[in-house]
Amino acid sequence: MNPVAPAEPATRSLGTRLVVVTLGFCFVFTLFAVGARTLSAWNAAWVAMNADLALLEQVYRQTLSKAIWEMDRDALNAHVDSTAQVAAVGHVALKIHSNNRTPEVIARSADGWQASTLAPTRRLDLVYAPFPGGSETVGELTLAGDERVLWARLGDEVKGIITTQLLQSLLLAGLIMLMFSRTVTVHVQHIARHLGQLTPDTMDQTLRLVRNPAHRDELSLLESGVNQLQGKLTDHLARLHQYETELGAHRDHLADLVQARTAELESLTEAQQLVLSLSNRLIHAPHESFEACQLECLQEVAQRLGANHALWLVPEPGQAAFRIFTEWQSDGIQVSPSPAPLAGMTHVPARLAREELLFFYSQAEMGRSLSPAETAVFTTQPVGACALALLRSDGEDYGLLFIGKPLGQGEWPPEDRALLAMTAQLLLHSVRHKAQLIAILATQEALRAANRQLEELSRHDPLTGLFNRRHFDEVKEDEFQRALRSGQPLSLLICDIDYFKAFNDHYGHAAGDQCLRDVAQAMNTAIIRSGDGLARIGGEEFAILLPATSATAALQVAERVRQAVADLRIAHAASGVGPWVSISVGLAQLEAGRTPDFDALFEAADQALYRAKEKGRNRIEFST
Ligand code: GH3
Ligand code: MG
Ligand code: MG
Repeated sequence: MNPVAPAEPATRSLGTRLVVVTLGFCFVFTLFAVGARTLSAWNAAWVAMNADLALLEQVYRQTLSKAIWEMDRDALNAHVDSTAQVAAVGHVALKIHSNNRTPEVIARSADGWQASTLAPTRRLDLVYAPFPGGSETVGELTLAGDERVLWARLGDEVKGIITTQLLQSLLLAGLIMLMFSRTVTVHVQHIARHLGQLTPDTMDQTLRLVRNPAHRDELSLLESGVNQLQGKLTDHLARLHQYETELGAHRDHLADLVQARTAELESLTEAQQLVLSLSNRLIHAPHESFEACQLECLQEVAQRLGANHALWLVPEPGQAAFRIFTEWQSDGIQVSPSPAPLAGMTHVPARLAREELLFFYSQAEMGRSLSPAETAVFTTQPVGACALALLRSDGEDYGLLFIGKPLGQGEWPPEDRALLAMTAQLLLHSVRHKAQLIAILATQEALRAANRQLEELSRHDPLTGLFNRRHFDEVKEDEFQRALRSGQPLSLLICDIDYFKAFNDHYGHAAGDQCLRDVAQAMNTAIIRSGDGLARIGGEEFAILLPATSATAALQVAERVRQAVADLRIAHAASGVGPWVSISVGLAQLEAGRTPDFDALFEAADQALYRAKEKGRNRIEFST
């Protein structure tokens, strides 16, 4: 809701107010003036009347005195009548003294006269001197002024006063009104109009009052005050405008900076993403293609940088030299780098050890900064801006990276610098990663070998080197099932050294061990077929599993084995069979339908062995 603008109160002219005040003042002044002047007019009229009466006294004094002396009544009456004719005289009384008689009075009054205390009254003794030196008071003359005459004179006077005062007041008010209007109101209205029309654009229009410039008064002060204020406001507005302009320029500059920084950040982000994806690729690269992947990374970064030449040098082990590990050129020609060490590469690594990255803006600048030998390595292609980065970690150099941009390109913007720095780190990590990868592969291989060995060990008897009971148990079931499936015969020999306890007792345990090794060796040699499995299944007990072997053929094997042991001619003084170590063999063959499982076959062979022992040892017995 818009606030309702308060109604502009109706204006009343200052001139009018001034006139009203002036008129009021004139009225009061006139009242006082009329009062004062009336009083003075009254006094003047009174004095004039008194003077008139005094004059009459002087005029008639002698005449009347003489007429009374002579008792000329006619003259007396005539004189009194003429005195009474004078306008100022309201009443005339002539008292005539006579000896011993009541004085006679001749009196005359104007029409309508009444005795008053306001009008002057004069009393004069009339003295007659009939001879020189003698005088006598003959009468008394009383002259009373006519009050009405006083009033009439006063009335005329007051009328004049009032008329003059009123006229004077009106003229004064008119004059003031006119002067005020011409000297003040017009200019004040002009100032009000001027101020009302002022806008920031017209602030420089000065106020000029249309009047005599020689007049210096309050209006001049107001005029110069308004102009000074406008001047200050104009300055202020100009300053504001200047500030606004500067602010606008600042804002534009800031916007440009933000835009540039945003673009830089975007490029930086893209560079980071590129390095991240390359890093990812390297992490997952298989060992065989790791180097190819490293080259790909170098290539992608070089392309991204707009380069036309990239070199990756690696330190030559044991020498203060580098050789080219990989090289990339924008023309797509894959260079097969020469493995020869590059001599004279000392200045660059030393400088890079301090600065990590070196940026040049032209080939010439690089030439001034590096040794001729080094420059020659990096300028097989003509380049413009170029850069060098050292792949160094924990004080060890892992390589040197060179990136060259085509001729005419002489810039290294911040995002390119950042990308190069990140790439150097990436390649450094890739080198270390590769080394770790190789180490891991070697460890894996060693582990596999160890596992194989363990596996071997777990399946072999450490004393004789033959398969052990564990292996035999694993194999026996498979062979049993296979024989059942194929219908092929399967024979089992169980061999046991005769009187071995006695051998141990007689020759000692170590000799017993050696005997076991020799017997095992002999038995192993006697078994010709690779499929036949010999295992040490107990202390001096051996099993020989003969797949696809009939009992008859198995008997031949058993005989060969028994003979082989006998042929060792290991002396056995404690044997109950003969002078040499001998073995007894139990033989059993799987019979389809009658041998339910391998344990049954084993049991049969074991019983055959038992019988061989029973029948005197050093012999072979069939299972029944
Ligand atoms: P028989 O003719 O009835 O088989 O008599 P024997 O004494 O051979 O039978 P027996 O099973 O009573 O004795 C087996 C002996 O084999 C007992 C043990 O001292 C010996 N022996 C078992 N394993 C080893 C070994 O690894 N080294 C040595 N030295 N002796 C072993
Ligand atoms: Mg035994
Ligand atoms: Mg034995």
